[in-house]
Amino acid sequence: MNLLPFGKLPPHKPRAFVPQDIDLGDWPQIAPLFDQLEKRAANCKTTAELERWLLDWSELNAALDEESSRRYIAMTCHTDSADAEKGYLHFVENVEPQLKPRQFALEKIYVAHPLREKLPPPRFQVFDRDVKSHVELFRSENVPLETEEAKLCQQYQKLSGALTVKFRGEEKTLVQMGRYLEEPDRALRQEAWELVAKRRLQEADKFDDILDGLIRLRQQIALNAGFKNYRDYAFRRMGRFDYTPDDCARFHDATEKHIMPLVRELQAQRGAQLKLEKLRPWDLAADPLNRPPLKPFAQVGEMVSRTQNIFNRLDGGLAEGFRQMDDLKLLDLDNRKGKAPGGYQSTLSESRLPFIFMNAVGLQRDVETILHEAGHAFHALATRDEDLYAYRGAPIEFCEVASMSMELLGNEFIEEFYSPADANRARRVHLEGVVGVFPWIATVDAFQHWIYTHPNHTRNERRQAWLDLMDRFGGGVDWSGHESARANLWHRQLHIFLHPFYYIEYGIAQLGALQVWANSKRDKVKALADYKKSLALGGSRPLPELFSAAGCTFEFSAKTIQPIAKLLREELETI
Ligand SMILES: [Zn+2]
Repeated sequence: MNLLPFGKLPPHKPRAFVPQDIDLGDWPQIAPLFDQLEKRAANCKTTAELERWLLDWSELNAALDEESSRRYIAMTCHTDSADAEKGYLHFVENVEPQLKPRQFALEKIYVAHPLREKLPPPRFQVFDRDVKSHVELFRSENVPLETEEAKLCQQYQKLSGALTVKFRGEEKTLVQMGRYLEEPDRALRQEAWELVAKRRLQEADKFDDILDGLIRLRQQIALNAGFKNYRDYAFRRMGRFDYTPDDCARFHDATEKHIMPLVRELQAQRGAQLKLEKLRPWDLAADPLNRPPLKPFAQVGEMVSRTQNIFNRLDGGLAEGFRQMDDLKLLDLDNRKGKAPGGYQSTLSESRLPFIFMNAVGLQRDVETILHEAGHAFHALATRDEDLYAYRGAPIEFCEVASMSMELLGNEFIEEFYSPADANRARRVHLEGVVGVFPWIATVDAFQHWIYTHPNHTRNERRQAWLDLMDRFGGGVDWSGHESARANLWHRQLHIFLHPFYYIEYGIAQLGALQVWANSKRDKVKALADYKKSLALGGSRPLPELFSAAGCTFEFSAKTIQPIAKLLREELETI
């Protein structure tokens, strides 16, 4: 039984190294390929042979990656199929753990190879930098610490995932409670918000305990690897070669100076529309004019054809890519029984084709999601001719430029879904979201910089550090009576626990996307050409070059943020 939404896909290239009939879910068949690569490395006597070796390793990685993606797609499209679940778990439990040490062994062989430094630098600079850094950071004494860290992360997930409240006689998860914050009935919003805040506060000590444990472990991991604090270690481990903690501090400062005035203006407008003297924390998500939700489409087929129309108006090449995905059934977008929740874009790395998964139900959010994921898909299509697997993916700071640009560019033609008035309402919701996310990114990022450069802090000092940031980036919301909830707001941000320092990426990418959009307002054809050119580079160049190919500067100070704040303000005034 074929559990995948798509049939046989056209192969991008015939395999040169991986056998045609191999079962990539069967480790005993895969292991000999790693043995061969290990042995062959020593016999590479010319740089051409070493490049061939890298391409064979690449081909193996792509084939394994696609195998894993296919099993994941089958499972998320058929959560009720025991076969799909078994197939996915088999790969996760029997193949992936074996892969990790074998991949690392090949990385070490590569870094130690005598011909490595003779490879042409512009071509291999980024790959080389990443692999070398990965190998250099490894410490065997950190392996058990990382296991401990993973266990604590799991405790955080267990603790937050298990939180429920009794609301009007029914047990609800906190995620389910989120939707009540959009209700027009203010008393209902307040009741829902307070219930959730109170429930979280009951576990406040446990959240703090988990973070204390994580900080201790991470500080030790950093010291073991020869760094003086975890922040510096994390920057290296995350491959942040092209920006520094000081650049992040400039992002925080510029957000405070240039975005916060706009946030306060928008909050004041919202207060006036809601006829409220002061906004409370439960007044931020509801429609300020009490209108019913936007209804962009009824059937998923309409969503696809109207999205196609948007791309037709935007760019012929992108339109062709989206049409091809639809033809090959690489879009599984409707919400139906037996599908996992959420949405994602996945790349079938060997076929070099993207796949989009969604659960569209007819909301404006669905339109934002399809435009966003299509941006990721265009990125994958643009890199099809790149043979080095590592370069077919870019760093997240740039991947999100591809997707967030498409939200902004696509919104220019969102009349495909709406009347002119509703189109402007949809743009407004989107842009207000863009403005509002900057202060939260700055808060979450600055908090972690403080935490990991003050590893011996007390809980009281940590609380104060957070409150200082809430003063800088919280805007004019009135929290009186809920001071503890405000002081512990970070407990809900899973990145702080699970993915330390991984958050500013979204701010950096949004700055790129807003620059692409600003360029398109001046010269649409050139902006789109630059956008496509930068996508085609994949991950083959460092971030500043990817940004500059897209027509943007890779810089996050007031120099970049001030004109963007100006553009956002002007745009919000006209819609
Ligand atoms: Zn994304």
